Amino acid sequence: MKAAVFEGPEKITIHELPDPVAGPNDIVVKVSECGICGSDLHSYLEGAFISPGQVMGHEFSGPITQVGSNVQGLKIGDRVTAVPLSTCGRCPRCLEGSGHLCETGLASSVAYGLPGAFAEYVRVPDAIVGGNIHLIPDNVSYAAAALVEPLAVGLHAAKSANPGPTDTCVVIGLGSIGLNCVQMLKACGAGTVIGVDISPARLKLALELGADIVINGKEVDALATVQEITGIGAYGVGARADIVIEASGVPSLLADAISMTRAGGKLRIAALYEGVVPIDANQIVQKEMSVAGTFAYRGEFSQVLQMLSSGQVTAEPLITHTFSLDQAADAFLAQMSKDTSIKVQIAP
Ligand SMILES: [Zn+2]
Ligand SMILES: [Zn+2]
Repeated sequence: MKAAVFEGPEKITIHELPDPVAGPNDIVVKVSECGICGSDLHSYLEGAFISPGQVMGHEFSGPITQVGSNVQGLKIGDRVTAVPLSTCGRCPRCLEGSGHLCETGLASSVAYGLPGAFAEYVRVPDAIVGGNIHLIPDNVSYAAAALVEPLAVGLHAAKSANPGPTDTCVVIGLGSIGLNCVQMLKACGAGTVIGVDISPARLKLALELGADIVINGKEVDALATVQEITGIGAYGVGARADIVIEASGVPSLLADAISMTRAGGKLRIAALYEGVVPIDANQIVQKEMSVAGTFAYRGEFSQVLQMLSSGQVTAEPLITHTFSLDQAADAFLAQMSKDTSIKVQIAP
């Protein structure tokens, strides 16, 4: 089969690799679509999280082409998407149901250690329907189903903040994850959602996806604007947003996020940063803010598929480009041009 192989920073080439073979507990999926994730860009640019030779791609969907002899409840032709993270099932985090925080399993996940889905076929080990493998409802397209993974990230972040109908929420950074947070905050019952970005296209899409107010941080001071909307924060500084989700990965915006959050409010950090970021810890203490990272997802896939099927959230507007597998290198370049792209997918 053909696969896009990461050879080193900014180098992806197409290789002919052996077709994957399902072991007794595995399935093989013919990849219909696979999205490029923000974390893939970190890998592509800096080699983060992966080694040369890795086939990336963890946001995928497609029909099953092989089913291992021990696998229950799945058959060839089933339309599926999969949780790429592998878990050991035995460590304390796995035993408490937080497989996304598994202490040992993640190193051999699909696209991280195991070959990913920027390829014609991908093998998913230890296939369990309703566990790591999810059947796609008939009215959800493969392209939309390949967005379940990042939508699950957004749902996990939104649930962590537990928004209520009187809450004013700010989402900073309206890339794929930030936009998914906007949709999911609304779907989880948030009152007002404010989106912050510097790209007019992303701000426009945020409004279409349910944001009540958007702020162009290139044209106005985002913190001052949130302050105008919410009122001045404790001790006469900052603003008083009930919930802030930082999804930009820009260090100065994490500082703004801390200042935007009200006393007793919640800050959720859903982005990754290059290097160590200094923060004003005193504000966190004095405002007794709840600050938490949110990473990946914890069983949100089936809920996201239901939400897509019922129309409560939508995926297609996020897909700005689709490339063939042969054009994988171009696809990464397209994903990097933030003014014109939201989610770039590769369709092998
Ligand atoms: Zn992802
Ligand atoms: Zn574990």
